Amino acid sequence: MRLIPIYESGMKALTIVPGKANSAAVLEVPEPPESDGAVLVRALELGICGTDFELISAQYGWPPPGSDHLILGHESLGRVEEAPEGSGFQKGDLIVGIVRRPDPVPCVACAVGEWDMCRNGKYTERGIKERTGFGSERWRTEPQFALCLDSTLADVGVLMEPSTILAKAWDHITRIGERAKWKPRTVLVTGAGPIGLLGAMMGKQRGLDVHVLDVIKDGPKPQLVHDLGGTYHTCQVKELNFAPDVIIECTGVADVIAQAMSKLGNDGILCLAGVSSHNQLENLDIGTINRKMVLANSVIFGTVNANRRHYEMAEEALLKADRKWLKRLISRREPLSNWQQALQRRHDDIKVVIQFSAD
Ligand SMILES: [Zn+2]
Repeated sequence: MRLIPIYESGMKALTIVPGKANSAAVLEVPEPPESDGAVLVRALELGICGTDFELISAQYGWPPPGSDHLILGHESLGRVEEAPEGSGFQKGDLIVGIVRRPDPVPCVACAVGEWDMCRNGKYTERGIKERTGFGSERWRTEPQFALCLDSTLADVGVLMEPSTILAKAWDHITRIGERAKWKPRTVLVTGAGPIGLLGAMMGKQRGLDVHVLDVIKDGPKPQLVHDLGGTYHTCQVKELNFAPDVIIECTGVADVIAQAMSKLGNDGILCLAGVSSHNQLENLDIGTINRKMVLANSVIFGTVNANRRHYEMAEEALLKADRKWLKRLISRREPLSNWQQALQRRHDDIKVVIQFSAD
């Protein structure tokens, strides 16, 4: 890919040089190649998340073969500009791209469309691993790796991709829970960021008593949890006066994870959905943890990414949710020209979105 500095005419994209910290820049790039897929999309919005910050700080990230640059962005929302007949898309449709592509082998999971469970790690991901992201004014996708979104979801559709992560988490929590007769009553979500709040929302949709724990004491997060009908806690996990049936851990903080492991109720499930930084040493009594886990049928599991089924589940969850509440998860919309502000983390931010074009 040939890249030239911006502010000439042409298509702009938010890019990084993987492996080079703080290389984020808006550059002029070529139009998306047809090899990216037959559906041409005009970008509306792009959500920014922790993964993008990790990519920008060069913790990981891989450019497409033959390029130094990676177009950033995996939380997409766009309008179809061109789509072949029979593709399931028409000009004007609201569209969200699927992030991961199956590995070329493929492994047993990828072979049946469960690329989120890829066994050999040779999968690719748009905007993360060896594939162009959705952070450009126009992008293309194969029709089978995109979802035609309900037209009423335009104002919250950018929340689709983070919602798929929680749709998968809940899908797997349910499958694990149903190993035996299971009727969970309480869920604790640690971390009230977008992932935690969407997880709490889906817990509420399942009729659970929802608790959210975070260190932030003010700003919109406590009110959002309250308005969801949940209880907001700022204490330590170990200080809670109940033992949750389900815990969705979204902080990645070692101390929180350790406390969550000990706090789980009988037959409890701890879902690890937050990616930790390395080198967080904790003094753990594995003997006691093992005793407790064995004697309480506990399960601790990790979850990442999502397959097509989870995109469909996420869309259903967004359609069922209180739209006004959902809209409050989007703290700021910044035009592409303000991309530097969009990449600044502010105390009150929940989800920050870069706006590529008006709907
Ligand atoms: Zn695979």
